[in-house]
Amino acid sequence: MVVDSMNPYATALAQFDASADLLNLPQATRAMLRMPKRELTVNFPVKMDNGTIKIFTGYRVQHDITRGPAKGGIRFSPEVSLDEVRALAMWMTWKCSVVGIPFGGAKGGVTCNPKELSSGELERIARRYITEMAIVIGPMSDIPAPDMNTDGRIMAWMMDTYSMQVGYTVPAVITGKPIAIGGSEGRLEATGRGVMVVTREALKWCGMSLNCSVVVQGFGNVGSVTARLLQEQGCKIVGLSDIRGGVFCPDGIDVQEALAYVQEHGYLEGLPGTEPVSNTALLELPCDVLIPAALENQITDRNAAAIKAKLVVEAANGPTTPEADRILQERGVTVVPDIVANAGGVTVSYFEWVQDLQRFFWGAQEINERLELIMVRSFHAIMQEAERRQTTLRMGAYMVAVARSAEAIETRGIYP
Ligand code: GLU
Repeated sequence: MVVDSMNPYATALAQFDASADLLNLPQATRAMLRMPKRELTVNFPVKMDNGTIKIFTGYRVQHDITRGPAKGGIRFSPEVSLDEVRALAMWMTWKCSVVGIPFGGAKGGVTCNPKELSSGELERIARRYITEMAIVIGPMSDIPAPDMNTDGRIMAWMMDTYSMQVGYTVPAVITGKPIAIGGSEGRLEATGRGVMVVTREALKWCGMSLNCSVVVQGFGNVGSVTARLLQEQGCKIVGLSDIRGGVFCPDGIDVQEALAYVQEHGYLEGLPGTEPVSNTALLELPCDVLIPAALENQITDRNAAAIKAKLVVEAANGPTTPEADRILQERGVTVVPDIVANAGGVTVSYFEWVQDLQRFFWGAQEINERLELIMVRSFHAIMQEAERRQTTLRMGAYMVAVARSAEAIETRGIYP
């Protein structure tokens, strides 16, 4: 098969195939795990503020539901396509498997540019999308959450819309909600906190100190929390970026100041005491740890040889293409794969769902302790698997995840 390395679904399939080969997966199990279970595409009309009607396209892909209800976020972005959603849904299956939470994998998206939409338009898109998706989602079947360009406010509209359809309040149908309507303590910063924990564990494994230099690409929910928490752990954050571009300071950037600056100016551009760098140059800056926390396909065969970091922690989903992965491996760069590195978000989503179903809520400390335990345990499991099989952390993670999903499929058997 000719792999289009810039198509995330081709990347996801290549990663799966490599692990299925190593695991010697039986043909039937392999075929079942390779294909998404269900895909729903919807085209729906939305009234725009200027009175016109615009048609939007939305997707929900459930990759696998063997280990439990489908789980995964919904993104709003101009790049959303069926193949991107398929890839992200497959990665959710492995993510839930590798950290051992009882969900399958799903993802959703609407092709739109939130930067060009008013709050009212965004709300109408979110509500209509969830209405269209009501035939496949539910607290026992498929539970969405935030992803790129979606947040607690949008989750609230979605939960409200679903609840209006069924006639009673169903908090457990969506996670990543505001606390006032059944959200969980710690969910907002869970992905970044998980990235911080695995970075700390990976540094120990590589024999590196926490007193190291870090570059974070992306300053959204994941990137900003990761940078802040790593700084609290003693790391020096030397580079940051957002969609406009990056900022660099070899002596270290104060993340709290950067957050306050972005709050006021909207972007990192012009942050006092820093030099501007392009998003491309940012990835090649001298540093010990590089954390891509933005989009797919950021580390490719074009820049992998120029990356200076010794450790790459994938806070984004799919930031490294398979060719780049090979180059990094040859160069001895350790990569903590996305399916473990950013699994903190879905882990606390699981806690939120459990709390909603039980109508019994836990405190922030309990959430963070449980998250820490799962992240540390998962990192150590993939590290041991990688060492045992003399392979990369990515393959170690895939071995654990795919084997767990395969065992579930084989144990349940084929119906009828
Ligand atoms: N969108 C997040 C992810 O990619 C979280 C998904 C969830 O909480 O269900 O992992």
